[in-house]
Amino acid sequence: MPLTHSLLARITADVPTLTFAPAADFLWSPSEKTVYYAPEGDTADALLLHELAHGLLDHHEYAQDISLLGLEMQAWEKARELATTYNVPMNEEDIQDHLDTYREWLHARSTCPECEATGYEEKPRQYRCIACTHAWRVNEARTCGLKRYATKETP
Ligand SMILES: [Zn+2]
Ligand SMILES: [Zn+2]
Repeated sequence: MPLTHSLLARITADVPTLTFAPAADFLWSPSEKTVYYAPEGDTADALLLHELAHGLLDHHEYAQDISLLGLEMQAWEKARELATTYNVPMNEEDIQDHLDTYREWLHARSTCPECEATGYEEKPRQYRCIACTHAWRVNEARTCGLKRYATKETP
């Protein structure tokens, strides 16, 4: 369902401290204090509340990969509260799907390329295997999440 314009109008009036701007994707830009929204996006109302939640919680760039999942969970928790306030239907399955993409990403990054045991992030973007002590670096590039939000150019 595309964005409900009356919802956007209400939120813009209620949260004057943040800027809201249309874009191709939903994202929260901590540096610009701007919530970008895709007006024609699927489940747009719920995603707007999710990005708004990141903004209200003042989420910044994460230091460790594991913290990203925490931030995402917090943002959905806050979005659920906002959904009650603004009467927006939230689909629990969509939320879990969204969180699963982060869990899968984290799992892929933390799996040892040598022995497939789980590693830990010993330095930003560098993992070490707990089983065989092999160390590996992971790509900065992210397909989702705050990292992308923080580095994305103004659309
Ligand atoms: Zn998020
Ligand atoms: Zn290993």
